[in-house]
Amino acid sequence: TETMRRGVFICGGATFPKDAPTSSLHAHSAAIKTAKFLMKGKIVKDLKVAVVNEDYCGDCEFCPVTCPYGAISLMPKDNGHFVARVSELLCEGCGVCVGSCPVGAIELSHLKNSQILAQIRALLSVNEASKPLILAICCSECGHAAVDSSGMAMMNYPANVRILKVPCTGILQVQHVLEAFKAGAQGVMVIGCKPEGCHYGTGAQKAQRKVELAKKLLSEYGIEPERLEMLNLVYIEGDQFVEAAKKMTEKVETLGLVKLA
Ligand code: SF4
Ligand code: SF4
Repeated sequence: TETMRRGVFICGGATFPKDAPTSSLHAHSAAIKTAKFLMKGKIVKDLKVAVVNEDYCGDCEFCPVTCPYGAISLMPKDNGHFVARVSELLCEGCGVCVGSCPVGAIELSHLKNSQILAQIRALLSVNEASKPLILAICCSECGHAAVDSSGMAMMNYPANVRILKVPCTGILQVQHVLEAFKAGAQGVMVIGCKPEGCHYGTGAQKAQRKVELAKKLLSEYGIEPERLEMLNLVYIEGDQFVEAAKKMTEKVETLGLVKLA
C-alpha cells in the first residue's frame, strides 16, 4: 500500500485488480498506515539531498526525467537557458540523478563524488588477505541488507571482498568502476535490489545499464569484462551474496592480475 511519495498510500484496485475481501484487507492496512503517519503530527525531513552546481548544469533535461520522486525541475535563467533545481522537500537523497548527469553537475550533499572515489581508494589500499581484492558496491537497501544478513546467519564471505555502501546503485558511474581497478581491485560487484523491487524506482535498472557500458569500456582498456558483474538481491539473500563473492574470487584468481593497458 505504500508508494514512492511519502504519506501517500494506495489500496484495492488502485494497485492491481483484486477481489473484494483482498481489497478490504488492503484498505484496512492503508488506513492504519495513514493514521500512523498523521499521528506523528509533523514530517521530519533530513537534509541529505542532491545539490546542483548551476555553473556546470548544461540544461540537458536528463535529471528531471530520471528522478523517481519528481524532485527536480528546470528553472529559467536570465540568459534564456534553464538550470536544474532540486526541491529539498521532495528529494530523498538516492543519488539516481547523480548517476544520470553527463557533466557531473549534481552531487549529493552527504556523499560527494570525491568522497566516493576516496572511499574506493581507501577500501582497496590494504590487502591482508591472500586473495585478490574485490570491491562490492552495495545499495543501502537490499544490497547491503543481504550482506548484513549473511553475517547474521554466520556465513563467511571472503575477506578480500570490500564493501562500499551507497544510497542506491543508481548513483553508479563508470568512473567508480575504473577507479576501483586503478586502485588495485581485481573484480567489482555491484549489488542492488531486484529491478522490480528497487526502493528508488529505476535505480537498479540504471545501474545495470552503467555496468553494461563499463564492461564495454573495460574491454577497450584490455580488462576482461567478466571482472565486473551486477547482482540483484532481496534483503534475505545473504547466501547468494556469499556464493557470488566466492565465485568472483575464484574467477579473478583464474584470470590473474589485471593488466592495465
Ligand atoms: S537524489 Fe534522488 S530524489 Fe533527490 S533529486 Fe536526485 S534522483 Fe531525485
Ligand atoms: S542532468 Fe546535469 S546537466 Fe542535465 S539538467 Fe540535470 S544537472 Fe543539468
